[in-house]
Amino acid sequence: MTAPKIYELAGKRIFVAGHRGMVGSAIVRHLEAVGHAVLSAPRAALDLRRQERVEQWFDAHRPDVVVLAAGKVGGIGANTSQPVEFLLDNLLIEANVIGAAHKFGAEKLLFLGSSCIYPKFAAQPIQESALLSGPLEPTNQWYAIAKIAGLKLAEAFRVEHGCDFISVMPTNLYGPGDNFEPASAHVLPALLRRAHEAAEAGVEKLVVWGSGAPQREMMYVDDLADACVFLLERYSGASFLNVGSGEEFTIADLARKAAAVAGFTGDIAFDTTKPDGTPRKRLDTSALAALGWRPRTPFDEGLARTYAWFRANRATLRA
Ligand code: GDP
Repeated sequence: MTAPKIYELAGKRIFVAGHRGMVGSAIVRHLEAVGHAVLSAPRAALDLRRQERVEQWFDAHRPDVVVLAAGKVGGIGANTSQPVEFLLDNLLIEANVIGAAHKFGAEKLLFLGSSCIYPKFAAQPIQESALLSGPLEPTNQWYAIAKIAGLKLAEAFRVEHGCDFISVMPTNLYGPGDNFEPASAHVLPALLRRAHEAAEAGVEKLVVWGSGAPQREMMYVDDLADACVFLLERYSGASFLNVGSGEEFTIADLARKAAAVAGFTGDIAFDTTKPDGTPRKRLDTSALAALGWRPRTPFDEGLARTYAWFRANRATLRA
């Protein structure tokens, strides 16, 4: 049974912060597809790290609904090399946007966490209650600490001021609009690009970071967008909710799938001098399922669409 609507988005002023990113752009696409107009602010005009600018923007535009999909994100390589940006930029953005949402009277806010902020060795599948129950994975602790602070800030506004601020915890995401830059990309776009370029250049070997053994649950970003819109209208609670696909693969499997879709037929090798990161982080999504939401896009279909997007946009991507 599907949870009833408790909040109507129709006619509301909806601000998606981070509309250029993979997640923000998918949420904008989804909102527009179901007939909602969306407010956004170009990065050049509004630096979300600057409180005064954010407050001026909120004062001028007065959104009723705020989706906070902006943030400094990246794969294991970027997290390791830019700890300050991953911690500080995310803290500033969250503090400014969540604070302004309250100050300028937003009725609803949705904050996005990430499954990598759970403890490194959380019991699988990971329940919401596992947050802060053990040590973090060191490679992404900076991002994790910032995101945990964001979740808690949204919760604190609910506790102290009765704000209808909710949070979701997505599993590993992929899809159109993903970051394909080799040094900072997440695993799937990184492997898709390497496999494509190796096939094109006739290179014999595709090198994969780490042992290939870690497992990752992969979710198509449009499914997350669908879940976010569903929850804006049908959920109000202090606990954040996990959003996952239930489709889990080893890194070695992902490499094989990326190779197949990109037409790479050579050998796959593992560079064990590179870190593995968290061994596994499959989410327990029973709380979300109880509200009546289900993912729709099978991995192979999402992978084909993502690869098609990569090919169509390759000329515009940075090396
Ligand atoms: P995580 O899920 O937060 O750990 O981040 P990633 O999406 O970056 O995935 C990291 C996992 O994929 C680790 O086990 C890496 O060793 C593995 N991996 C294999 N090749 C690559 C690659 O080219 N880039 C990235 N980012 N990770 C890779």
